[in-house]
Amino acid sequence: MSGAAQGSLADLPLRDDLRGQSPYGAPQLDVAVALNTNENSFPLPQALVDAIPLAVAEVAGTLNRYPEREAVLLRADLAAYLGRGLTVDEVWAANGSNEILQELMQAFAGPGRTVLGFTPTYSMHPILARGVGSTFIDGMRAGDFTVAPDSAAEQVAAHQPDVVLLCSPNNPTGTALDPEVVRAVLAVAPGMVIVDEAYAEFARPGSVSALDLLPEHPRLIVTRTMSKAFGMAGLRLGYLAASAAVVDAVQLVRLPYHLSSVTQAVARTALAHTAALLSTVEAIKTQRDRIVRVATGLGCVCAPSDANFVLFGEFADAGRVWADLLELGVLVRDVGIPGWLRVTAGTDEETGAFLDALAEVMRQTEPMRPDQQRTRL
Ligand SMILES: *Cc1c(COP(=O)(O)O)cnc(C)c1O
Repeated sequence: MSGAAQGSLADLPLRDDLRGQSPYGAPQLDVAVALNTNENSFPLPQALVDAIPLAVAEVAGTLNRYPEREAVLLRADLAAYLGRGLTVDEVWAANGSNEILQELMQAFAGPGRTVLGFTPTYSMHPILARGVGSTFIDGMRAGDFTVAPDSAAEQVAAHQPDVVLLCSPNNPTGTALDPEVVRAVLAVAPGMVIVDEAYAEFARPGSVSALDLLPEHPRLIVTRTMSKAFGMAGLRLGYLAASAAVVDAVQLVRLPYHLSSVTQAVARTALAHTAALLSTVEAIKTQRDRIVRVATGLGCVCAPSDANFVLFGEFADAGRVWADLLELGVLVRDVGIPGWLRVTAGTDEETGAFLDALAEVMRQTEPMRPDQQRTRL
């Protein structure tokens, strides 16, 4: 029995361009050690956990009314966090940076337009582009997953995309972009250039944020999130910094009252605890560097990482290694790059559990001979 009519997706008058597509789907499995979606594993500061119910209680009595539509106070807090003289008018917030990216696709891409990204990159970028009826163009990276400024500029010049989506540090490879790549792309891009900086807080010293390029580039947009370094993935809060005109453009497509009063209040409370929240960043970077060191010692190759995860390989059968690790209670991510897997840096214990499991798996896995390897880092 079921309470609604029976039928399959194939029977519905779905948009032709969505037929056969797969939804985003990192498995949410109940395992001891889940290191597959780049969350912050460290517990939230107790002072923040205690403050959240008070902040919610304060708005509870107003929930008969719609939330403040422009989220001005929250945007002011986010602008203050980013610094660099950014103002409320130059910052916009939504339910996760995925919603921000979707709004940007609606405003600047859309039917008949093109979006170029350099794959392998965040799996949501093509899904978001196709979701608004745009064509996603697969830009090429070098064999070591990097993209050089002249190559990036050549590809953008050749394809003339309406939107370029860069990701720095890049998920799933982990490396931050050389700011020269962003500059080279901005110099030739005919449309908007978005830099997805979901992992910016984890970057190694010397890495430059695209925020520093905003004053000279009216078509540059930088997106950030509270899901990763801030450890607030469950809150759903992402934001962008760009010229005030970009924020005006987004108003044309955003849903009214999209950010609930509860979200706004909790996000502001979290931002008031920024120092405590970000105090885990150094510990996570230590675990990340430990993964690179130990996994390399076990015979793996690791991509250099500016993020809270590590891409490791190279395996003849990465799916098999993924399953073997799961068998040992550790969930990592098969990101679809043949031979490679991605693991999130967790707490000391979680990271240790992963490395122990990896050591066990490696004892039974024939390492690839260098001449068999497809990727050279
Ligand atoms: C995790 C991630 C995001 C975050 O999305 P939210 O919707 O803010 O949780 C955005 N971009 C990239 C590249 C990511 O890996």
